[in-house]
Parts: sequence; structure tokens; C-alpha cells
Amino acid sequence: MIAPRPHVAAMAPYALAELGNADTVSLAQNESAFPPSPKALAAAREAMARLQLYPDPDWTELRHAISEVHDLEPARILCGAGSMELIAALLRTYAGPGDRVFGSAYGYAFVATAAQQVEADYLRAEEVDFRVSVENLLEGVGRGTKILFLCNPGNPTGTLLETAEVRRLRRDLPDDVLLVVDEAYGEFSDQDSVFDLVGGGDTVVLRSFSKAYGLAGARVGWGYFPTEVVAQVRKLLNPNNVSLVSQAAAVAAMRDQVSMRATVKETARIRQVFASGLRRLGLAVPESRTNFVLIGFTSATEAVAADAALRRKGLLLRGMAGYGLPQCLRATIGEEAVMLRCLAVLEDLCHAAG
Ligand SMILES: *Cc1c(COP(=O)(O)O)cnc(C)c1O
Repeated sequence: MIAPRPHVAAMAPYALAELGNADTVSLAQNESAFPPSPKALAAAREAMARLQLYPDPDWTELRHAISEVHDLEPARILCGAGSMELIAALLRTYAGPGDRVFGSAYGYAFVATAAQQVEADYLRAEEVDFRVSVENLLEGVGRGTKILFLCNPGNPTGTLLETAEVRRLRRDLPDDVLLVVDEAYGEFSDQDSVFDLVGGGDTVVLRSFSKAYGLAGARVGWGYFPTEVVAQVRKLLNPNNVSLVSQAAAVAAMRDQVSMRATVKETARIRQVFASGLRRLGLAVPESRTNFVLIGFTSATEAVAADAALRRKGLLLRGMAGYGLPQCLRATIGEEAVMLRCLAVLEDLCHAAG
């Protein structure tokens, strides 16, 4: 029997959220509570009539739509089958066996898997009160660090690092460390992106259609890259990586900023209702600028009990033990009625505990 390469054999599969069954509502994957723009759905339907064709390998229309909305240079945009594809390609481009990849304590879990794929070491700096600490990142970045991943706003914490702090991080990092700012939740943050840092030549900004645009199932992500980086990363993307239907949907979604803004606004409103309800129950909830909240219980036992009680009512949250936070659960913001059901379950539990 053929043997896999040792580092692959040693890897655990990437732990996606449990999906539940037909009777459960998943609040585990940070999917949008709302469907995509009707214009995106219409464009996808229309594109289906051309499915005998390969997609545009250069994502021409999509790059143009993105560049118009965000005022960016199309030639420096790359699109991926989700931003996960771009994260993996960045690692394959710049990191190999024994190289160091650095991140923040509760940074995006997929980066750890992507680092293992290329046999790089993934190390993390501590956070302070569930917030990224620029001090700790700068102190921890050591020799041999190739890439520093910053997820802003953070997942699973939901907290936001101010733009000025991101700029300070870039300014004080060595020039040969690539800073990758993952802004998968950027649309929810109400804060300007740091696309301008990309001009400096050693920063990449990643975005996704999976969250605020409600297109997780279409698998489309994009990033803004320095010119030299675009050319290298491009070589490691699969040709024709974003399907014809997905490109059409993403173009129309990008051009419908009104729909995306409405999703963001309504999500934020429900999040406020949910977060203040949780805080009234005495639960710890960091200030979220995303479409989810991190719920802190007093112990791992309580988190497990809450998870079980929620599951009995068909509500599936994301356990956080894999992030080293066994006392926490992460809840995606779903429809208001669903979040009120969640609150009711937790309220009963708190009263029973008494
Ligand atoms: C959801 C998410 C992404 C987006 O992944 P896609 O591959 O674009 O669906 C990227 N980074 C973080 C931190 C996320 O939570």
C-alpha cells in the first residue's frame, strides 16, 4: 500500500462545525441569517444556462465589480474558491518545512491546518481580554517568521482591532514578514479596511463573499495583493477555481451594496438584542463587530451543559474547546426568532442553576 507523506499522516482532518440534521438550526458556521441579494440569485440562474463552458479564469468581471466598489486596482485582486483557498495558497507560496507562521491566540483555526499542510510551525501570541495585542504579536514574531495572520474583526472573539493599531503593527514588523489581514467580517465592522497598506509591498488583505453577502455555498473569496505577491500566489491557485455560476452570483452581489448593507444592519440589530440578553443573564460576551458572538460561561462544565440544553431544542452552536476556550460557545447570529429561542433556553438554565 502506498504511504502518505509523514506530515500528512500525522495531521488531523480540519474540524468543520457539526452540521446537525433536518431538525436542527445551525448557528455554528457564521453563515448569513439572510439569503443573498435577489440580483445575485437571478444572475446565478441565468449563468446556469452556460454551464457547458469553463468559467473566466481571470475573474475579469468580478475583479472589476470589486475594484469599482472598493476603489482598487483590478490587476492586484485574486479570487479564490473561498478565501480559504487564498490562505492555503499564500502559505504554499511563502512557507515551508520549519518556517514559522505566526498568529494571535484565537486566530482563525484554518490557518493552523494550512500551516501543517506545508510543514510550517504555527505559533500564537496571547490576547488580552479576547482582544488582539499588537505588543504581544510584535514581541512574539521571531526569526524565521514568514507570515503573520491577523483576523480582524477576530473569529471566534468578534472583537475589532482599530485601524491605527493595524497600521502600527505593520510599521513595526520586519519588512520581510508578510502581514495577512483576514477581513472576512470586514463588512460588519463599520471600520475602513487597510487596503492602502497593500501598496507598501508586504501586506495582503483578504475578503469573503461567505458572510455579509450570504454566498457561503458559492465559495468565493478575494484578496488585495502587492503586485509581486499576486504573480507568485496566482501560480498556486487551481485554474478555473471559481465556478461560472459563483462568479456571476458574486458580481451581482458586489454590485448590490444596498442588499449587503441591509443584511449587515439587521444582523447588527439582532446581535445587540441577543448580546444584551446574554449579559443580563450574567454571561460574558466580548463586544462583537461580526455576525456572531462568543459566549463565556463560568466553567467548561457550564458550557457543555448549555450546549446540551440548546441541542435538545434543536439549536446547534459551536463548541470552542478546539480554540482552547472550553468555557465558551460561539453563536452565529440567525433570525431574531431563533436567537430569542436561544436566549430562552439559556435563561431557563440560569434560573435552574439559580
Ligand atoms: C468564514 C471565514 C473565512 C471565509 O472563508 P471562505 O473560504 O471565504 O468561506 C475566512 N476567515 C475567517 C476568519 C472566517 O471566519
